[in-house]
Amino acid sequence: MDVKGKIEILADAAKYDASCSSSGSARASAPGGLGSASVGGICHSWSSDGRCISLLKVLLTNVCAYDCAYCVNRRSNDLPRASFEPEELSRLIVDFYRRNYIEGAFLSSGVFGCPDSTMERLVSVARRLRTKEGFNGYIHLKIIPGSSEALVLEAARWADRVSVNIELPSAMSLSRIAPDKSPRAIFGPMRFLAQASGYPASIPPSAAPLTLEPPKEDSAAQGPLSGALVPATPKGSRESAPAYPPTSSPNSRQVLPEVPLSFAARRRRHNPRAEIIPAGQTTQLIVGASPESDAVILSLAENLYHGYDVRRVYYSAFIPTGSDPRVPQISAPPLAREHRLYQADWLFRFYGFSASEILDSTHPFLDLRIDPKSDWALRNLHRFPLELCTATYEELLRVPGIGPKSAQRIIKARRHSSLDAQSLHRLGIVMRRACWFLTLKGRLVSQDLSLGRIEKPELLKKILLDPAFRPDEPQQPELPWEEAR
Ligand code: SF4
Repeated sequence: MDVKGKIEILADAAKYDASCSSSGSARASAPGGLGSASVGGICHSWSSDGRCISLLKVLLTNVCAYDCAYCVNRRSNDLPRASFEPEELSRLIVDFYRRNYIEGAFLSSGVFGCPDSTMERLVSVARRLRTKEGFNGYIHLKIIPGSSEALVLEAARWADRVSVNIELPSAMSLSRIAPDKSPRAIFGPMRFLAQASGYPASIPPSAAPLTLEPPKEDSAAQGPLSGALVPATPKGSRESAPAYPPTSSPNSRQVLPEVPLSFAARRRRHNPRAEIIPAGQTTQLIVGASPESDAVILSLAENLYHGYDVRRVYYSAFIPTGSDPRVPQISAPPLAREHRLYQADWLFRFYGFSASEILDSTHPFLDLRIDPKSDWALRNLHRFPLELCTATYEELLRVPGIGPKSAQRIIKARRHSSLDAQSLHRLGIVMRRACWFLTLKGRLVSQDLSLGRIEKPELLKKILLDPAFRPDEPQQPELPWEEAR
């Protein structure tokens, strides 16, 4: 098979992986070298289905010994297979770079033989690019679950970013849908990477602790409750916490901080020229291939940000790729659900929310009709309205229609002049949503705008509904196994 044929097969096979974005690395061009991974030097573009296409995104091989039901490359799927030799792929990347086709590469692979042999081949592409070709462009390498620590470290030395995809949000779903993988094979490399890159383990003294409950013997066999991160003091009636991630030692008890993630992320030492993975590690969760609720998915994501220094959790709507009976047969990926999860993820990364505030056992799924912050505000109307002249930055961030920039602008503007309702939109506030939750000098802003006052939450919800919502999309598709519901 010629190179063109291989690219067609292996680039197409890689498109289902959403866990690549090129932000966070700042290696500049070097004399006699090629390319640059600095933020300004890398451009991004997005395909119609929302995937990043600025990098050469390709598999080393789509031959795979594993049989993950959600994956087009699973061994039981009958499709054309192809493989690159490491030298062939590194030459191709350099050729493409010289022709200005790409800024970098995202390299993944099916499991060719065993995890270590596959990882060794991936590492050899990156090593060759850096050492023989002098390539300074961006490299994102996939870590194959179950790879040895030595190879994981070697990958982290040459790559700007690595990702270990979790894919399924519980040990039970992993054992059903991706039976060749285990929680230990996935979280082992993630934990090792977090430790190797010096993620600080210090905890603010004021923080209430979370305890990391030790898993039973084999997490994969224990279902969704083993090895869960659970609050030391249960908050409200939260439903079962996710099975992930397991602890490194079955007997260890570890205390993790319960602080807003937006605060925790600020404690990370930012060092774009770090010795290993300057852009950190990411992961991907598939949404809709398994029965876990959004509450479970968000709780897991929050734990990963806190405990494993994951820079981004990507939520990927399950794309049906055949008729495997282990996954639901759906006509279209649940893209609206994926979108709402990204919005909720932003709330705990940048707005000071915790996952348990956004969803709980009484609200296990995000409402597709409305953005998560408006939905939270409607469930917490006792906290509103807020007085614009005196509200703190943290309080302003909780108002629908106000983001970090507009909250900063409000605080700055009110120091120097008197605010008035008609000019608030100039501060970047989305007035359609915010005016119902704010007062200005004691008067509701919606009244100042001649919109009146609405007391009933259900009427307010109608006003706040997202006009882009498509009502025909189900919250959670029918699942092929009964007992999982
Ligand atoms: S290990 Fe699973 S997800 Fe990865 S390529 Fe193979 S079948 Fe697909």
